Amino acid sequence: MSGIPMLDLKREYLHRKAAIDAAITRCLDHQRWILGPEVGELEGEVASRFGHRHCVGVSSGTEALVLALRAIAIRRTGKEYFDRQDLVITTPFTFTATGDAILRAGATPLFVDIDPATFNLDPAKVHEAVAACAGRVVGILVVHLYGRSCEMAKFKEVADSEGLFLVEDVAQAFGGRWQSRYLGSLGEAGAFSFFPSKNLGCYGDGGMVATSDKELADLCRMLLKHGGRDKYNVDHIGYNARLDTIQAAVLLAKIGDLEEMNEKRREIASLYARELAGVVGIILPEEAEGHVFHQYTIRVPGGGRDALQKALAEEGIASMVYYPVPLHRMGVFRERMSVHGTLTEGERAAEEVLSLPIGPLMSEPEVRTVSGTLRRLLAR
Ligand SMILES: *Cc1c(COP(=O)(O)O)cnc(C)c1O
Repeated sequence: MSGIPMLDLKREYLHRKAAIDAAITRCLDHQRWILGPEVGELEGEVASRFGHRHCVGVSSGTEALVLALRAIAIRRTGKEYFDRQDLVITTPFTFTATGDAILRAGATPLFVDIDPATFNLDPAKVHEAVAACAGRVVGILVVHLYGRSCEMAKFKEVADSEGLFLVEDVAQAFGGRWQSRYLGSLGEAGAFSFFPSKNLGCYGDGGMVATSDKELADLCRMLLKHGGRDKYNVDHIGYNARLDTIQAAVLLAKIGDLEEMNEKRREIASLYARELAGVVGIILPEEAEGHVFHQYTIRVPGGGRDALQKALAEEGIASMVYYPVPLHRMGVFRERMSVHGTLTEGERAAEEVLSLPIGPLMSEPEVRTVSGTLRRLLAR
């Protein structure tokens, strides 16, 4: 039996092989590996296609988050880092890097529970948390999990009224929208990841910071090159966090059809929704507007998730649990976090979620195979 993987990167490469090969060959010809012309070109392309005023290429999505938060700390406090007393609200149901970036910027994550329908931070609980921790909350780091936008109007409202910064972790939602606007352009800054499996992926690590604020963009540019405008006379505690030229070249070759690829992901999600409608024992994700389905994630309530995953694997069908351990249960955060209320929805999600194979070039028969197998296994 051939089997269905989570995502077939080789298929995507072959789909655009000529353009990608040519882009890499151009780099081999010019040999400008560090901040070569492709990096600036990519920044310009992302800015103009997705309505961002300033884009700064960086070495990963994680570094994009760290640089954005550090730049905001420097500008708001005049110091290099936030204070341990400063709280940044975020979700416990995300990849570690989201919370880790808050720690690396010197602040303490304040975990607030998610809305079970969206898997994203619950705006009502964020309002409560801000009120409960009066004066200590400095910002909100929202995550558009699985490619679905947070309810940005509600977060903007609380951020604006309380003078908090709002940063978007867009690692899973490149090209996704909130109403008519592309994600990453709604807060003070947006952080993107080009990790190979993301909606826009390169062939290694890569990331980007988007912001409408020139001063923040300038600070990020300094931080990614050791912290100075001048490499040999440095102002801030910086990083070596540049986006590789060759990765920018690969991304330039792929960015032209990102919208089409995201549309294909939405079509696959719709097909899953039709094929799995009415199946007892699972809950399907909502098809929200602007959703780019980085993952197609179902819930398996009642404790049968792991057994179902194992049964699927026996039929040759891959699936993944993103994420099995909420951040507040991890050792790294145990002594370094604050929690508002209970985080039971985040914990329940960690026990129930199962992401099914989805990739822009997945075929209709493949989607039907996955759905049919699921239906059969759940009917047993
Ligand atoms: C992938 C991811 C990151 C980190 O991106 P890298 O490029 O792997 O460093 C951060 N946050 C979320 C939600 C992610 O999915």
